[in-house]
Order: sequence, then structure tokens, then C-alpha cells
Amino acid sequence: MADTLLRIENIKKFFHVKRGFPVPETVTVRAVDGVSFEVKRGRAFGVVGESGCGKSTLGRSLLRLIEPDSGSVTFDGQDVLGANPSKIRALRQRMQIIFQDPYSSLNPRKRIGAALAEPLLVQGLAYKRKAHERVLKLLDEVGLHSDAADRFPHEFSGGQRQRIGIARALTVGPELIVADEPVSALDVSIQAQILLLLRELQKSHNLSFVFISHDLGVVRFFCQDMAVMYLGRIVETGPIPRIFEDPLHPYTHILRDASPMPDPNQSKKFIHVDGEVPSAVNPPNGCHFHPRCPYAADICKKVSPDWHQVDTERGVACHLFDTGNTGHDYPKR
Ligand code: SF4
Repeated sequence: MADTLLRIENIKKFFHVKRGFPVPETVTVRAVDGVSFEVKRGRAFGVVGESGCGKSTLGRSLLRLIEPDSGSVTFDGQDVLGANPSKIRALRQRMQIIFQDPYSSLNPRKRIGAALAEPLLVQGLAYKRKAHERVLKLLDEVGLHSDAADRFPHEFSGGQRQRIGIARALTVGPELIVADEPVSALDVSIQAQILLLLRELQKSHNLSFVFISHDLGVVRFFCQDMAVMYLGRIVETGPIPRIFEDPLHPYTHILRDASPMPDPNQSKKFIHVDGEVPSAVNPPNGCHFHPRCPYAADICKKVSPDWHQVDTERGVACHLFDTGNTGHDYPKR
């Protein structure tokens, strides 16, 4: 069993925003509300959830691009949230991010070669000819011609820009990459190319990933383990094959049934779900999922479910798994 590279414990990030007219009131958005999980070395850990569930805030919080309010992040045994500026600089060399829209993170007036060399210069890893050689090697690794170094970001397609984003993340030789919706802005055929590229790079660079996506099919393809997020909380974690075979949480069950199946002969029993995702500003009491859950009981409306570690690999937060629960039956699947 691979050892743990990244451990996230009880991370919280709330935003306080003004809302309303003519008299605005301050409301609290509980974007990330007590999230914990572990990423094993060399594996890809998927974080799946609908838009607005807090997964991007979580990704940025664990790199301290956003400062979390509380909790702990441990990377290879080192305390990330307690790290001083020089230590965090050193850690950032080992933990990088790929954004959904790499264009927004590239300076439109800077040639790609200069943009890719910049992290090497800042970290003092290579200068001049050595940095240039490293840039050309990276471009080759991500499937771009060496003349890309002399061009500007606007001269590339979306897929090519994402390749540049990947190359930029790789410049400083990271061990962990947080990939935040890295393919969701791309056409399906390009998505497949980028996912295959990331998979190749994962092997050749021995990378670990936190892979954030709203698309369960993409996570299923790329990751080995996953967590399902709903309104700022994780509701289920485990290895991908086991979750797809037998989802424990009703929300995971619904997501699984809504995602395309590679085997059309495999029968599925659909659960019907009503309603929209509630707002993180004023989430429902008890289990956040209860207004949409076909198995909601009275306790679900009042009491937030505890985390149940079902075995060494799997966990779920749902009253259906409470010890001695007799209030409602487990769904037949
Ligand atoms: Fe449904 Fe209750 Fe489980 Fe929430 S705790 S998912 S409402 S059964």
C-alpha cells in the first residue's frame, strides 16, 4: 500500500459577503466545512461535486492560495498551514496547480518560453541556457513543438493552452498537482487527449494528483480514489472501483446513475432526485442533502450525520449507516 503524501484534516473556509438591497446584510458562505481526506503517493484522488459545492475553494486552500480558516494540511510530513514564507516557497516547488482556464494565469504579453522559464528563475533552479533547454524539454513532453516558446498565449487553441498550463506546473518538478477542472472547458476529443497526457506524465514523473471535477466520468477514468462533496462537506470517500460498484451515500448513488456507463448491458436502478442544489449561504439543517434525498427521515432534518468509517478504505456521512439505526431501511440496489 502506497504511503500518504498529503493529509487534509477538518479544513474549513467560510466567506463573509454583503448581500441584499437597499440594506445589505452580511451573510456567511460555508464554502468548505470540515473536509478531511488523504492522498497516497503516486495516486490520483478525485474530488467530485456539483458546481458551487466548494471543491475549487478546497483545492486552493490546501495550497494556501486561499488561507483556510482552520484545519490542517500535512504534505510529506510537513505542516503546510503553519509554514513560514520561505518554507511555503519550498513547498510550492513540490505542490503545483493546473487551472481550468490556463489563459487567465498566463501573461498575454509574455512569450511562452519566458513564462515557462519564470518559475525556474524565481526558485533559482536554472538560468539562461539551462532554463531554455528545460523549457524545450517540457514543451516536447506536453506534445508542443519547440517553436511554441517564441509565441504568445493568444496564438494557441484551448487544448494547447492547457498543455502549456501543464508544462508550467511541471517546470519546478512537483510531486503533487492540484488539477482544478483541467478539462471541463475543452471539447470532448481534446479532453481525452489531455487526460491521456496527464496519465502519461503521472507515470513518468511519479506524480500524485488532487483532481477536482464536476464530471464523474472523467474522475472515473483518471483517478484511483475519490471523495464526493456536497455543499462544503465530504459525504463519501473510497477507491473508485468500489464506489462505482456499490455507492453508499444516496447522493453518490444518484451521481453514479447519472454518469454514462461504459457497459450498456449493465443494468442500473435509477433513484429519482428532486430539487436544486441549496445555497451554501443558508444550507439546510441536519444533513445538507435531506431536501433532495429519497431516503430522508426525521433525524436527517435535524441532526448532521457523523462520519462512519465503514472499513479501512471507505467512509460515508449518512444516517443510514448509524449504529443500530432502525429508523429507515437501506435502499435496495
Ligand atoms: Fe439521505 Fe438522511 Fe443519508 Fe442525508 S443522512 S443522505 S437525508 S438518508
